[in-house]
Amino acid sequence: MTVRDFLRAHQSSYHALKGRTKLKTLHCSQCKTEFPAGTFGRCTKCEGILKPEYPDAAVGSLATIAPGHGLDRYRSLLPTNTAVPYLGEGNTPLIPSRRIGRELGLEHLFFKHEGCNPSGAFKDRAGALAAALALEHGAKGVITGSSGNAAAALAAYAAAAGLECLILLEPGAPPAKLRQVVLAGARVLSVDGLFSRGPEAAADLILQVAEKLRYYPAFAWAPVNPCLVEAMKTISYEVTTALSGAPDAVVCPAGGGDLVTGQWRGYLELRRAGVVTKLPKMIAVQSLSAPPLVEAYRRGLPRVLTLPYANSKISGINVAFSGEHALGAARESGGAVAGVEDEDVFAMQRRMGREEGLWVEPVSAAPVTALQELRNQGRVGKSEKVVCILSGAGFKDSNLSLAEAESIGRRPAFPFDAEAISQEAAAKPF
Ligand SMILES: [Zn+2]
Repeated sequence: MTVRDFLRAHQSSYHALKGRTKLKTLHCSQCKTEFPAGTFGRCTKCEGILKPEYPDAAVGSLATIAPGHGLDRYRSLLPTNTAVPYLGEGNTPLIPSRRIGRELGLEHLFFKHEGCNPSGAFKDRAGALAAALALEHGAKGVITGSSGNAAAALAAYAAAAGLECLILLEPGAPPAKLRQVVLAGARVLSVDGLFSRGPEAAADLILQVAEKLRYYPAFAWAPVNPCLVEAMKTISYEVTTALSGAPDAVVCPAGGGDLVTGQWRGYLELRRAGVVTKLPKMIAVQSLSAPPLVEAYRRGLPRVLTLPYANSKISGINVAFSGEHALGAARESGGAVAGVEDEDVFAMQRRMGREEGLWVEPVSAAPVTALQELRNQGRVGKSEKVVCILSGAGFKDSNLSLAEAESIGRRPAFPFDAEAISQEAAAKPF
């Protein structure tokens, strides 16, 4: 059974779940057909991705929203009428590059450090919105399939909102990634071949379990849940406020593609509200070892095909499937989709630590890795304002430095002696 068939069969029960308040309606992004709020999955007529629509007055409010904290101050532009729980998400710093930008010949390179979100990744924005939507739908809990940052974010915001949380994952997920999930009291179940049957099968399973348990399906991928991608718009709002205008280019990692698409929607709204006049180029970056979006972009395909493999060592972008919404954002904005080698990304992760003082997880180094080729191709110019999205903090995936750090603890100790310490330090210059 496909997601489409499943939704046809089960749509009515989701509508019954939608609860007490008036939700915002959805439209197909291709054929514009309207769907009731609370609809999951794709358009049942043309299979387009569904998208919440907002009245002019709500979009216009972007010009007057006061500085503050959290996602809730943007609620008129989010698909919920319920207060979004606050744990410190958003308002992440936009840090000017100190060295790497200069070395690449970029005068205005900025890092939007999403690792500063409470659980350490941009997924907190979607997690916060998911908790609000679950409360609005009258759900008892939330469910998703993930072993990574989405699970950690959802577990935290579910705990904050007093909701139960169920995480499905592939057997053999790295335990380090699950520490935050377990601490937040979520239930974790290993499911045989959860993602190996493709995204549609995983989504079917999640939607079926959600219906049985009266949980909100918080699978953060627009072709399945059309609402959670909207949380990513708030990154564009914040960047525009910090730069007093839109940047010339936004470079960000792309797994399923919601991060790229959400930001693009945000810039379109900012233009509609008259806050900005020009729009940035959206540049999505994937690993060449897991490149569904890169393939579709290079071959000029209208849809993104699911690959028979995903062999990247970079958690967060090791995906066999991606959404055509990200492909559309790259094309419409005059941007691009770039591919990078895993080893180059790991090298850049270290470089960002040493040259910028930024400890990020490998996936965050992917957009910075892509910059050299983008410069060579003339896709980003010397004097352009370029924003790289650093999607998660270094502690999320510390495998690289863990062995090195542990070996330091095993070395023989130096004597309590200034001379000996100074000599050792001077002998091995930085
Ligand atoms: Zn449609």
